[in-house]
Amino acid sequence: MLSYAEARQKIIEITQAMRHDPPRETIELGRACGRVLADPVRADRDYPSFDRSIRDGFAVRAADAGVPNATLRRIGEIKAGSSFDGLVGPSECVQIMTGAPVPAGADAVVMIEHVRVADDRVTLERAATRGQSIVPRGSEARAGQELLARGTRLGYAEMALAAEVGSYRVGVFARPRVAILSTGDEVVDIMATPGPYEVRNSNGLALEALVTMAGGQAQPLGNAPDEKGELRRYIERGLNADVLVISGGVSMGKYDLVEAVLAELGAEIFFDGVAIRPGRPAVFGRCRGKLVFGLPGNPVSTMVTFELLVLPALDLLSGTTARALPLMGARLAQAVHERPGMAHFLPARVEHSRGEPEVSVLPWQGSGDIVAVARANAFLVVPADRPDWAAGEWAPVMLRRGPEGAGG
Ligand code: AMP
Ligand code: MG
Repeated sequence: MLSYAEARQKIIEITQAMRHDPPRETIELGRACGRVLADPVRADRDYPSFDRSIRDGFAVRAADAGVPNATLRRIGEIKAGSSFDGLVGPSECVQIMTGAPVPAGADAVVMIEHVRVADDRVTLERAATRGQSIVPRGSEARAGQELLARGTRLGYAEMALAAEVGSYRVGVFARPRVAILSTGDEVVDIMATPGPYEVRNSNGLALEALVTMAGGQAQPLGNAPDEKGELRRYIERGLNADVLVISGGVSMGKYDLVEAVLAELGAEIFFDGVAIRPGRPAVFGRCRGKLVFGLPGNPVSTMVTFELLVLPALDLLSGTTARALPLMGARLAQAVHERPGMAHFLPARVEHSRGEPEVSVLPWQGSGDIVAVARANAFLVVPADRPDWAAGEWAPVMLRRGPEGAGG
């Protein structure tokens, strides 16, 4: 059986081989958070566009201020947004604010905290060196320079950069359309009152949120019963999207029919098992030119397999690179023993204690336990070849994307 790393690699290979550039559109920058650039963003001018002071203080000639206690004469002031027309001559200085242009003649800025001012006499308590507290014109970027490459996903810093250089409209790729289909005779709509042995379709909403957070366009198809003909009709509808994500019906039960129906539809199955827990029966295939994921229906399995397997494909279909897993290290709060041969993803909380991340595994009832996963902000990753861990060891953790976990 493939490891999760091998399964991801397979998905990346297949998706890359099928991939063609998504359609593109031009949209307002303010609506582009999370979108992927189809056109690069370039600097419209030098950044900064002038030699900029990064302190409130005095613009001086370093040659006048090579030793402490040099006394200079203040000949004017410059606030941000304006400039000083004169020249700073020997033994002169100009009061300057953060963000203002350094006047001609000056080549250093001394912080206000390091001077004594009496009328127009300014005594520098420290020696100044050339260039201090000045960001030279063009040192961040040159006019015309590419700052954000095609294929960059826009997060807050990228948005700020595009805004800084005046790219108020940006060319982006269309988001991949992701059909979401849940399956199971026992699954009812979330607005319905379930019978005693029925469950509400929580996977539908979890997958919608996951797809949206991944930058895809979710197309919910509702729930298909465990009956071949009906299931087939739902799946065929889902194949109109760019990707079809199915939950449930991929295990060994008598009514797990997803693989059989995909086979009927001529799907090519690349794998139907991954050495992970939860999530072992996950299926990845291609049908009528579309990618199909069959995720196990237990809610935590659905979530974990989406993060591990579906996300890289959605990144590639969005026109960007597959993001890395949000892994970090944390000190284990307790010993952990799992079965070897499978990587385990255990709902966990990472908290910072004594300056270090510490991870505690939450009590849980297995892969149906949404209560536990909603309390978690991470999954402890127990590698397949390293099932036993002592308290206090430094262990791998995968942050859960969302309000508390890693972003991206
Ligand atoms: P399956 O993968 O179809 O064998 O389902 C495994 C478990 O997940 C069963 O207990 C199902 O009731 C539950 N399940 C399947 N689909 C959903 C869903 N859409 N929402 C919530 N639970 C589900
Ligand atoms: Mg089922």
